[in-house]
Amino acid sequence: MADGKVIPVKVALRCRPLVPKEIEESCGECLQFFPDMQQIIIGSDKAFTYDFVYGPQTLQRDVYETSVKQLVKGIFNGYNATVLAYGQTGSGKTFTMGGGYGMSHPDADQELVGVIPRVIADIFEGINKRADEFDFIVKVSYMEVFDDEELCSLLDLIVLQIYKEDLLDLLVPVSKREDGCVQIREEGNGGIKVQGLTERQVVSAEGLLRCLEEGSNSRTTGSTAMNASSSRSHAIFTIHVERCTCSLLIVFFRQDLCKAKFHLVDLAGSERAKRTQAEGTRFKEGVNINRGLLALGNVISALGDDGGKRPHIPYRDSKLTRLLQDSLGGNSHTVMIACVSPADTNMEETLGTLRYADRAR
Ligand code: ADP
Ligand code: MG
Repeated sequence: MADGKVIPVKVALRCRPLVPKEIEESCGECLQFFPDMQQIIIGSDKAFTYDFVYGPQTLQRDVYETSVKQLVKGIFNGYNATVLAYGQTGSGKTFTMGGGYGMSHPDADQELVGVIPRVIADIFEGINKRADEFDFIVKVSYMEVFDDEELCSLLDLIVLQIYKEDLLDLLVPVSKREDGCVQIREEGNGGIKVQGLTERQVVSAEGLLRCLEEGSNSRTTGSTAMNASSSRSHAIFTIHVERCTCSLLIVFFRQDLCKAKFHLVDLAGSERAKRTQAEGTRFKEGVNINRGLLALGNVISALGDDGGKRPHIPYRDSKLTRLLQDSLGGNSHTVMIACVSPADTNMEETLGTLRYADRAR
């Protein structure tokens, strides 16, 4: 699988409609959209170009089909995939990812269904299509990562461990959570494994959706209990797909084994992140900046630098980037969906998001 070619990170920009509160406050709109040119203009004349631009009227289905659907195909060919939703709190990250809405409810409005349930449906469709030839094992994990402490300790960096309070296993009921730590293990093939994290095997799309709902509810309950807002944490929903041949020949033909994972990430709110000084330079660390978002920006930017030789990719700068290390850029497919509000009252944060997304490209 590893052909050494770096697959570029794709960046989509999505603007939600004004929400009722913004309409009540008679907010103006500060964005203009030119989807055919993949362009957005903020204020009177500042233009940005992305791989995809989705205006406020864009349907969930269109977002999925244009920017995410092809990643599912890659999964069946052994390519890892990551979809990241970035943006300030209230910009539409959770709505876009679909952590809160399930296809499992027959009465759910199909238009509201976001990216994750659509990925789930397509993965199982792909499995059913190949059922004559292959057996598949599907496992899921769902974690919430707090990544905004000042500095990782030196020990932390050396042994790659994450304390339980910084990483919640959303598939373990709140009452059963134990203290201790989970460890991130780098496997021989460069793969990342989180030891101690639940990987639950599922056999149907319905089963997988139930895990999504269970974990999403657990995220909400957990953060209320901790008196923290979920906007501080990253939620990482991971689907592991493993293919094996039906026959016993598998023992002799190991190459028929094929493994990939799909990370679907609802990132922490970007509102405390200080803006970049200038495009193309390292993010300047400011007070309260979310370490994960800072590191993510630097990793994605380094991946895009094709100055001939391999640049240093600073995966180890945050828990988020360490956890996603084997599935970010490189030989995996990555799409970042940057979410913004159209309201002029959010213009400064929106400009910050446009710049972050611009640097990622
Ligand atoms: P975030 O997760 O970034 O904090 P949410 O996804 O919770 O933001 O969205 C904030 C509000 O805006 C919610 O009420 C949500 O339903 C609404 N919203 C977000 N995106 C859209 C959209 N594309 N169309 C309609 N409503 C949206
Ligand atoms: Mg949210």
